[in-house]
Amino acid sequence: MKKFPLHWQILLALLLGILYGSFLGDYSEYVDWMGDLFLRALKMIIIPLILSSIISGVTGIGTAENLGRLGLKTILYYLSTSILAIVTGLFFVNLIHPGVGADLGLTRDVTDLGIMRQSFGQTLINIIPTNIFEAFSQANMLSIIFFSIIFGFFINLTGEKSRTFLTTFFDAVFEVMMKITMFIIRFAPFGVFGIIVYQISQSENITTLAQSMGLYMLTVILGLMVHSLITLPLIARFIGRIHPWRHFKAVTTPLLTAFSTSSSSATLPLTIQAVETNCGVSNKISSFTLPLGATINMDGTALYECVAAMFIAQAYGIELSFVQQVIVVITALLASIGAAGIPMAGLVMITIILTAVGLPLEGVGLILAVDRILDMFRTTVNVWSDTCGAVVIARSEGEILKV
Ligand code: ASP
Repeated sequence: MKKFPLHWQILLALLLGILYGSFLGDYSEYVDWMGDLFLRALKMIIIPLILSSIISGVTGIGTAENLGRLGLKTILYYLSTSILAIVTGLFFVNLIHPGVGADLGLTRDVTDLGIMRQSFGQTLINIIPTNIFEAFSQANMLSIIFFSIIFGFFINLTGEKSRTFLTTFFDAVFEVMMKITMFIIRFAPFGVFGIIVYQISQSENITTLAQSMGLYMLTVILGLMVHSLITLPLIARFIGRIHPWRHFKAVTTPLLTAFSTSSSSATLPLTIQAVETNCGVSNKISSFTLPLGATINMDGTALYECVAAMFIAQAYGIELSFVQQVIVVITALLASIGAAGIPMAGLVMITIILTAVGLPLEGVGLILAVDRILDMFRTTVNVWSDTCGAVVIARSEGEILKV
């Protein structure tokens, strides 16, 4: 087993899981505990990992000016790739028209625009936690990230003695968390096997689903492929000046984990490990950009949100004007930022878009059946985009080390 690289082991586990789930689905309880254990272990380390990683990253960045510049650059970069993803989705959904002809004869129920504005404003306000321990216990990522950045920033403003102590302390905690991550990663093939068996045994008949929803799924997957196989590699090549294929090989383990867990947050420990060890991105950059990316940068989700909303509009026979399509683009972006890095988070966020353009909320029911499958693909693209972002930012800062 030693010579057999981990990503091949995971791929094999994925295939075996599909076989087991399809043919022995009734016996899934014999193996699905492996997936459960693996996910629990990953979730166990996420919060201490994010905390220590961001604090050690921010103390490494140093001055307020540097932090502000890096923060702004990272956020602008993430927003740009998400918008590119949405536009790609919009293009394909207008080209293929997957929902046209599937008129459901339901009446429109125009909902109030206020809901969206309020909940988005509230989301922003909620970034500042009232109780940091509550934020930890509820895994409220944006609040945890916010608190960690502030904490790291103020460490740099303390006196020599405290600064050295705290910096060394959080660097050391981070090192321990990475060691635990490496240990958990070794079990990834078993975890992935268990998760896939469970998913397959739970899902409805894929052929029936694919027949009725085929065109819609095709549109989402086609868009995701164009974004991840053309747009992002071009950015990685020409802005990040890295070889996209080599980069892909360096991050296969997190990508396969993202595919099977459908959670960018759960994958985060593996993403950090791969980007640092295999891509040579400095800890300073990866520990800042990746936790942020796993939370707000979801290109796959953004694209999916846009296609799904347009599909629902088409299925209800509602023609969206240009202005409404612009609203779809903007709200899809907000929805992708707001979606948590957990399975099916994106599905819930679609209601934001439907509300904003006055589409029937029950439309979500239309796409529910195939959401879990599409979630696997979009989460993979989310993580792929985070890794590309980390190298692009690292390159622009001269922070790619030799591997
Ligand atoms: N599952 C996705 C993620 O973790 C979020 C989504 O549902 O789109 O990245």
